[in-house]
Amino acid sequence: MKHLDEYRDPVLARRLLTELRATATRPWALMEVCGGQTHTIVRQGIDELLPAGIRMVHGPGCPVCVTPLETVDKAIAIASRPGVVFTSYGDMLRVPGTTGDLVGVKARGGDVRVVYTPLDAVRIAREHPDREVVFFAVGFETTAPANAMAVLEAARTGVRNFSALVSHVLVPPAITAILDAPDNEVQGFLAAGHVCAVMGWTQYEPIAARYRVPIVVTGFEPLDLLEGILLAVRQLEDGRAEVENQYARAVRRSGNTAAQDAIGRVFRIIDRTWRGVGPIPASGLALAEEFAEFDAESRFAVGEVTAREAPECIAGDILRGTKLPTDCTAYGRACTPRNPLGAPMVSSEGTCAAFHNAGRGLEM
Ligand code: SF4
Repeated sequence: MKHLDEYRDPVLARRLLTELRATATRPWALMEVCGGQTHTIVRQGIDELLPAGIRMVHGPGCPVCVTPLETVDKAIAIASRPGVVFTSYGDMLRVPGTTGDLVGVKARGGDVRVVYTPLDAVRIAREHPDREVVFFAVGFETTAPANAMAVLEAARTGVRNFSALVSHVLVPPAITAILDAPDNEVQGFLAAGHVCAVMGWTQYEPIAARYRVPIVVTGFEPLDLLEGILLAVRQLEDGRAEVENQYARAVRRSGNTAAQDAIGRVFRIIDRTWRGVGPIPASGLALAEEFAEFDAESRFAVGEVTAREAPECIAGDILRGTKLPTDCTAYGRACTPRNPLGAPMVSSEGTCAAFHNAGRGLEM
């Protein structure tokens, strides 16, 4: 297939669904880890078309949603300082911290700017040597290479008024944490294609073998997802637990080694607390010792903040896949995309926003 609409062909979709119905003899629960995949599944109604008993569980794959509340509060504290230009991808601006968001800082006169690449932040720093320019470096393995390149570029060109507030998270430890949870019901995973395009899939092989779960590297179009689900169900029905690659047009087993080298040079692995999920060992990236001077957290001494979630928000249960947005009493009432109480309603990859945009459980 060469064109986008071919990955949305309804005839092929019906064929895959027919094959899925012929394959599934028992109920199975599968998790898509990526928020982009969640949006396609919900928007296209794929979860509602699956054979009875095949259940999609929406995972913690929204990078904006899992950024710790404490880190959002630190971002707000740094962005509020005079002389600071705070730069970020647009999604992070409306994520609620304990008492506000970055849009509120901007409204009060703070210099908060949306950038499309972290290299723009380095350029702004070069153009404004009298200002401190900070980039909010969040996301999974997908955004880490570009953020690593920005730090390398600042170091190479001697841009010392640039720093990064780093809050990267890693997918394989999150999958392990989900499987280790005593109430886990997930029996197979669709691994995010773009993460695997960077990292390959060798990290998933010990997880599939140890927990006896199929893991299928899957793309983002409707036919990708239907095929990924079919491959996972086929493995479960056969009693196999392997890593398979549905997204062969973009993903190689070893991934992008140049990108991995940049990540490995600039960052080190640390324990990280995921918003709503809690601490997960070895699940985050922080700047390596060699690049510590670019660490915004220590440059602005924002080590101690006391964070507090909105009491009615059940984002943690949503991100762990144990509840649906429609289980939340605030969903569609106190919490909407225009007035979000929690990160999963803000982000373009959040499950609550996906449900709301598709009109799920709303009186229309
Ligand atoms: S609907 Fe809003 S309040 Fe409820 S879990 Fe989602 S983000 Fe939180």
